[in-house]
Amino acid sequence: MAKSVFSAPHFQDPKKARALIETTRWPNGPVCGHCGETERKYATKKPGRWRCGNPACRKDYTVTTGMVMESSHIKLNVWLQAIHLAASSKKGFSAHQLHRTLGITYKSAWFLHHRIMEAMREGNLDLPPLGGSGQVVEADETYFGPVKDPRKHAARGSYTKGGRTGPSNKRAIISLVERGGKVRSFHIPRADKVTVSRIVADNISHESRLHTDESKLYFGADALFAEHETVNHSRKEYARDDVHVNSAEGYFSIFKRGMRGVYQHCDEKHLHRYLAEFDFRYNRRTALGWDDEQRALAVVEGAVGKRLTYKLPH
Ligand SMILES: [Zn+2]
Repeated sequence: MAKSVFSAPHFQDPKKARALIETTRWPNGPVCGHCGETERKYATKKPGRWRCGNPACRKDYTVTTGMVMESSHIKLNVWLQAIHLAASSKKGFSAHQLHRTLGITYKSAWFLHHRIMEAMREGNLDLPPLGGSGQVVEADETYFGPVKDPRKHAARGSYTKGGRTGPSNKRAIISLVERGGKVRSFHIPRADKVTVSRIVADNISHESRLHTDESKLYFGADALFAEHETVNHSRKEYARDDVHVNSAEGYFSIFKRGMRGVYQHCDEKHLHRYLAEFDFRYNRRTALGWDDEQRALAVVEGAVGKRLTYKLPH
């Protein structure tokens, strides 16, 4: 029988787990998580804990200072197990799965799940635009899950496929997908032209070829991009030469299958974080040269500078 991946030392021993996080976050030695000091530091009696030698700081820190794991009661080797599950499952992972698989309480699993999703979220600022000269970027929208207050979402100027007014009782999602490359997804309060145009204009390189369906949401994009080509879904046209939105539809189908199979409840205010989790995995998929281990280390790297303060809802 094959050995369980969890027999690796960093999944079993909290000290080995800490060492792995240290080599990932601190390839050149300890860095103060409060002020960034690299030279002046003192070892304390507690393993893994340093005292900053910068006179303006003098604070104690460990490798998890300023990471999503900071001040967590869950042992670091269990964190790494959860991160591995998150990074290697194709269709997502849930707090219930973590609870059952790792033998931790549901409450602990819920915290782990949300913090790992946060670690998977790419910063919203300073992301380079998708696409580029000669590259195709597909933009498409979909609707998933009920909204809390449909009246807030019902508005003129919301359209679905075929140009009809959007379903005001569903959460709107827009995804931008580079053909053969990365995805970037957004949960939007409603799919109207102003919101969608801004997302498309801000996140796609204007030298790109933009492919969409014939939805009115993308009217006006012609002026912004090298080319804007559309397929007419309402006339049962799904591809014309290389013009299609199949990559975006493929992404939505992974997302929806994952959400249906794995996530029983997803509060609307957390939907962006679930999307970030699916984006993270899609952007590091096997076809782009990633393996489970590299993906897990990318989660550890993404855990820096992200702390969540919200509490379990029930
Ligand atoms: Zn410091």
